[in-house]
Amino acid sequence: MQTQLFIGGEFVDGADGAGIEVHDPHDGSLLTEVAEARAVDVDRAVEAAGKAFASWRHWPADQRGRLLLKLADAIEQHAEELALLETRDTGHPIRDTQGLDVPRTAATFRYFGGMADKLQGSVIPVERGFLDYVVREPIGVVGQIVPWNFPLMFTSWKMGPALAAGNTVVLKPSELTPLSTLRVAELMAEVGFPPGVVNIVPGYGATAGARIVEHPGIGKISFTGSTSVGRGVARDAADTVKRVHLELGGKGANIVFDDADLNAAVQGSAFAIFHNQGQACIAGSRLILHERIAEEFLDRFVTLARSIRLGDPKQAETQMGPLTSVGHRDRVLSYLAAAREEGSEVLTGGGRPQEAELAAGCYLEPTVIAAEPSHRVAREEVFGPVVTVHRFRTDAEALSLANAVEYGLGGGLWTRDLSRAHRTARELRAGMVWVNSYKRVNPGSPFGGVGRSGYGREMGFEAMREYTEAKAVWVNVDADLPRLYG
Ligand code: NAD
Repeated sequence: MQTQLFIGGEFVDGADGAGIEVHDPHDGSLLTEVAEARAVDVDRAVEAAGKAFASWRHWPADQRGRLLLKLADAIEQHAEELALLETRDTGHPIRDTQGLDVPRTAATFRYFGGMADKLQGSVIPVERGFLDYVVREPIGVVGQIVPWNFPLMFTSWKMGPALAAGNTVVLKPSELTPLSTLRVAELMAEVGFPPGVVNIVPGYGATAGARIVEHPGIGKISFTGSTSVGRGVARDAADTVKRVHLELGGKGANIVFDDADLNAAVQGSAFAIFHNQGQACIAGSRLILHERIAEEFLDRFVTLARSIRLGDPKQAETQMGPLTSVGHRDRVLSYLAAAREEGSEVLTGGGRPQEAELAAGCYLEPTVIAAEPSHRVAREEVFGPVVTVHRFRTDAEALSLANAVEYGLGGGLWTRDLSRAHRTARELRAGMVWVNSYKRVNPGSPFGGVGRSGYGREMGFEAMREYTEAKAVWVNVDADLPRLYG
């Protein structure tokens, strides 16, 4: 298991020799200790990335792409190992890390490997006598800061487009879950990424993270995390006029109309909230049900929630693992306590499971709560296996409930009526809408939010724009310039 910082193509200790303990959320045991990056280590990483940029930016685009394609292959070759590492570090059930996280990571690196040499410029029709062409150039050293909920996948979402476009990277994984990112860095070195093109600095937000945000050698910050930290990142990045891309929190609305296929809606809505223990920015954490089908839907949904198999995430039959840290589990529990105080009704779950074998872990029961839209649990991001239920009569009421929160990341709707589907998709305030499904992601489809969920987009061609600057070049081919002086 790789546990050192990755700077300039080498695994090294932090200058201060400090370490961060990494725990297994299944039983609280110590997995390992990784080197902690402090500000001085970030400085070293930025210097290495700056040096590497001078040549990496001039690499033929297809050669950069080729390395990303090789990396995708290497990830597939090490799929089992990476899935287990991610499961132990995060608590994601192994069936998800094997079936979703690892394949999606490989697919995203492969997508951007193929994209590297498709980034074309354009020619602008300007006045006669001039050729005006636009090229897209890499920004330089980019700083990437990611959270703990999908650490492996985020290596590809962040590094794939940045590297394909010719940037070099300093990436800080969450202090809670650095292990799969360090392993990916090792694979990158093995497939031939030159030293300094990618640098990984596990560390705390207030030290390593803050230094990345303020460092004058970094041209852009891509931040995924909470809205409160993201706000500060944008403020601090302004001092050096960095470009900022923010992927922040969410409070996804999931509307079930009375003409929906209820079987599909119940299954899809359970995946929307309970996958990864609800620790997803796009989680469908507010169920908005037409009153005519609400009782029947809830009967089936609550029965399903009670049947979800909690347990050791390393076991193939486990459907729901522990939350990723004790601190986060306690934060979710505090939302449940607040919900009770505010008069919400817990329909199922609502606390820690009783089974003795789960007592030492960060487990929580799948929880369904009938709440008022004004309750904190229905307004704020809980980031756990907790869904609130609301009822509506008209389509307008459904939309007004859905759009009543500050966030605008993902949202879903279930209906057999085509016009209603498109109309509702148009009116939902969100960066992504799923019709008769939920939480679909694909490397080609832009991912990001509006409102307090942030701005900018991961994935697809949009991501290549995020990591490039447009440069317009004017060439006087045969224009007569006016004589303005003398
Ligand atoms: P967080 O904001 O606490 O931390 C995110 C990252 O920022 C971590 O690496 C952390 O160390 C770092 N950080 C903390 N303080 C910092 C500072 N002052 N300067 C620079 N970096 C700092 O979030 P979290 O608890 O790790 O993750 C959960 C949050 O992430 C949720 O709100 C979730 O919605 C959000 N998220 C958003 C998306 C998206 O694409 N929109 C995806 C996943 C998670």
